[in-house]
Amino acid sequence: MNDGPDPLADVRDIVIVGSGVAGLSAAVYAARADLEPLVLEGPEPGGQLTLTTDVENYLGFPEGVGGMELIQNGTEQAERFGAEFAHGTVENATLEERPFELALSNGDRLRTRALIVASGASARWVGAENEDELMGYGLSTCATCDGAFHRGDDVLVIGGGDSAMEEALFLAKFADSVTIVHRREELRASEIMADRAREHDAIEFHWNTELEALHGSREEGVTGATLVSHPDGYPSEKLESGGDVNRKTVDIGGVFYAVGHTPNTEFLERTAVERDESGYLATRTDDAGRGTTETAVEGVFAAGDVADPEYQQAITAAGTGSMAALDAEASLETLEVSGQTALEPTP
Ligand SMILES: Cc1cc2nc3c(=O)[nH]c(=O)nc-3n(C[C@H](O)[C@H](O)[C@H](O)COP(=O)(O)OP(=O)(O)OC[C@H]3O[C@@H](n4cnc5c(N)ncnc54)[C@H](O)[C@@H]3O)c2cc1C
Repeated sequence: MNDGPDPLADVRDIVIVGSGVAGLSAAVYAARADLEPLVLEGPEPGGQLTLTTDVENYLGFPEGVGGMELIQNGTEQAERFGAEFAHGTVENATLEERPFELALSNGDRLRTRALIVASGASARWVGAENEDELMGYGLSTCATCDGAFHRGDDVLVIGGGDSAMEEALFLAKFADSVTIVHRREELRASEIMADRAREHDAIEFHWNTELEALHGSREEGVTGATLVSHPDGYPSEKLESGGDVNRKTVDIGGVFYAVGHTPNTEFLERTAVERDESGYLATRTDDAGRGTTETAVEGVFAAGDVADPEYQQAITAAGTGSMAALDAEASLETLEVSGQTALEPTP
């Protein structure tokens, strides 16, 4: 995007930040409404689904579909109706007035009358050896998505909060055994969730323990893990400061990270878009009390995981993506009626 005409000379109708399922779904809807959306792909073109192999719970694919294939199809579908895709990561947004201005990390700037933020929430990884290689191949960050692939397996869940308990309880429906690996001796989870996990016959705990390495291959999937433990907890810190830890390797068929997500909303920090304490975007309800995808800033919409700490599924992201495009289209129509689309670009 460094070549060609100055992008500031043009004001776009819609820019979509993110090319995961939510961004693609928004792009299909906006493009079909002749709004010629520009989709900024960000640091992870195609989003989180590109990290996984089989997606079995997305409607319309009785045999399942590859994560990458779903994204490629969605991209082609959006392009067919006129959506444009560009490499670009938004670093800063100026949203005080419309058109909004976006500053990209490569120095480019863009202006747009409506903005759809579909920048996702990145699952935190723990830094174990081989995790890059095995993510999506027996290593996952989503039990709802991948639990059913582990019928009869022994699996590990890494984490100690509510989401780790939830993931473990869900996995216990399929797996032979679920071991929660937690670096301390105390859980962060609420009492009720912790009790449910403690009382479950198929769930056990490895306290004061961390995952150091994963074993396996893309062909075989995850086959084992090396765990380190220390009686006082935080074994990796003990290792870093030159202490000794106990180390053991276990045979397992799957590992689930449940150490939280970080919504990708840093670029909105200095704007009036409201975020909750974890950084997830808040959307507002309309006068009739119905939920919308519009944020606290008129003309800025949120779709997908970036505004959803709860469900975080491809199908829900696609659903809110389409909603955001419809809301943005309606907002642009209002702008047109009020004559604001006549705004001339600044020289
Ligand atoms: C291993 C794994 C397996 C999964 N399996 C399933 C499954 O089987 N079924 C299911 O329903 N769900 C599954 N999920 C969850 C699903 O992938 C997510 O719910 C879905 O991808 C969310 O879509 P999204 O578009 O909101 O965000 P994401 O997919 O996270 O996409 C975010 C996009 O925003 C871009 N971006 C981020 N920051 C910026 C920025 N500053 N500027 C520009 N662009 C930016 C990124 O590059 C990316 O393109 C899985 C997730 C993982 C990690």
